Amino acid sequence: MKILITGGAGFIGSYLAEAYLNRNDEVYVIDDLSTGSLDNIRRFTGNPLFHFMEGTILDREAMMELTGICDVVAHLAAAVGVKLIIDEPLKSIHTNIVGTEIALEFADKFRKKIFLASTSEVYGRNSRVPLSEDDIRVYGPTNIARWSYAAGKAMDEFMALAYYRTRQLPVIIGRFFNTVGPGQTGRYGMVIPRFVGQALRNEPITVYGSGTQTRNFTYVEDVVRGIVGLIDEPRSVGEIFNIGGKGEISMNDLALRIKTIAGSTSPIRHIPYDEAYQEGFEDMERRVPDITKIENLIGYRNHYDLEQILTRVIEFERRKLSAENQAVAT
Ligand code: UDP
Repeated sequence: MKILITGGAGFIGSYLAEAYLNRNDEVYVIDDLSTGSLDNIRRFTGNPLFHFMEGTILDREAMMELTGICDVVAHLAAAVGVKLIIDEPLKSIHTNIVGTEIALEFADKFRKKIFLASTSEVYGRNSRVPLSEDDIRVYGPTNIARWSYAAGKAMDEFMALAYYRTRQLPVIIGRFFNTVGPGQTGRYGMVIPRFVGQALRNEPITVYGSGTQTRNFTYVEDVVRGIVGLIDEPRSVGEIFNIGGKGEISMNDLALRIKTIAGSTSPIRHIPYDEAYQEGFEDMERRVPDITKIENLIGYRNHYDLEQILTRVIEFERRKLSAENQAVAT
């Protein structure tokens, strides 16, 4: 099989590429390296099944060519990360809406199955626990930039479902909850790489707000197993699936857990949201998925718990830090 992975040099996309390469499938990646990086795909260099095009999903020619070649599209390219969405609102909205429209248009033109990466952000401020796929969405006002991400991704879902209903395009929508693992960067705000980096440097661990807000973290390889399983399963077409895990942890407890596992002396510092993001920033208090639907359809289950995830991320970041320190010393 040949699969086009948009955003395949990103954190989740590169793990997805690896999963397909391990199955001897041929992988085509388009990525503009805005948040993705060559570091993520360096391990595929020399693999004849791997093809990389540096480019944007807004490039219609490139998307037409690649979609024509492949059997399936996994559309993961997007502007992600709360910080990035707030810092670059215009570019983010454009990429997430127009980019998805282009991906769907060419999937439709060539009649290719398309998996659309969506997000738990679409639930907005609905803090019902757990959140199931048809729960309502609760958004704040449009002058709070964070909500543009949720609204944009929700519009992507509407578009995909409209293609399915009106043109029978085989679309699958996966809503990722907080996906984590080695290689994720903290540059765009993601909490675990940030806390781990701070802990390893013995710098203050920056907990935003009261720190009582909770999240559910899922290991990237588990999420990837979910994506591959959904793409393989014909009954997933036209459906939306939460992809995440069970349980939740507060950011206060997460900071302490990371500090302990890393053996760090970092103090824990609380930073008001206004200072961390922008004035009037609104956070989600809780965000826990109901994963019954994906469990029932493809027997999805997570293989990694939070302890294993944190140990792996800390190990990875420790090695990276010591390599950086060595490079500075020589
Ligand atoms: N967060 C934090 N300190 C940081 C970065 C994030 O306390 O340095 C909090 C953030 O406010 C949110 C949670 O961690 O409540 C998860 O943030 P992330 O950006 O990783 O994902 P989100 O769930 O917000 O999309």
